[in-house]
Amino acid sequence: MNFLEEKILADGKVFEGNVLKVDNFLNHQIDIDVMRQVACEFKRRFKGIQVDKILTIEASGIAIAVMLAAMYDVPVVFAKKSQTVNSVDDKYVSQAYSFTHKKMNNVFVSRPYLSAGENILIVDDFLADGKAANALIDIVEQAGGHVVGVGVAIEKGQQNGGRDLRQRGIKLESLAIIESMDYATQKIIFRNQQ
Ligand code: 5GP
Repeated sequence: MNFLEEKILADGKVFEGNVLKVDNFLNHQIDIDVMRQVACEFKRRFKGIQVDKILTIEASGIAIAVMLAAMYDVPVVFAKKSQTVNSVDDKYVSQAYSFTHKKMNNVFVSRPYLSAGENILIVDDFLADGKAANALIDIVEQAGGHVVGVGVAIEKGQQNGGRDLRQRGIKLESLAIIESMDYATQKIIFRNQQ
């Protein structure tokens, strides 16, 4: 069992509706030691791959992206979910249904922050149905960039996002893959990745 699987078992709570709460180290309070280990593990798994920028989506992907970008010494771009009055640049826009908020979000990145030919590593906290990851991939493709990989801390293997990305030939690295989790017993089983 790796450090993240151990942390999930120690601190994760299974909620109704197939939701895993990891607010005390990933989604609300951020445990810097865990984040550092997440970043190191991504760096190891994507070894040898040229990365020009790291792309994530607000909010929970940002901490992981920043820790990892510091190791590559490259910029982080995070896709936004809501338009603000001061965002006047032209944008790449895609759509993603939010698993946690149960609504469709417009996801966008201002055009100056992604360029044709860039090698983009996408990271996020969770992968469930793959809506967020697919919106980010779509945005990179609109910009003419190359998705060199997708890294997620926690993949919910009972949902199809991971399977679909792998079938498309995308290099997906998930540090913990949940095979099953049960609200009544709080039992969480991980997929063996050895
Ligand atoms: P997807 O777009 O792959 O369906 O879902 C991924 C997004 O939904 C992630 O950005 C994450 O924020 C959120 N998410 C999906 N499932 C869970 C979950 O079980 N727990 C938490 N905390 N977030 C989730």
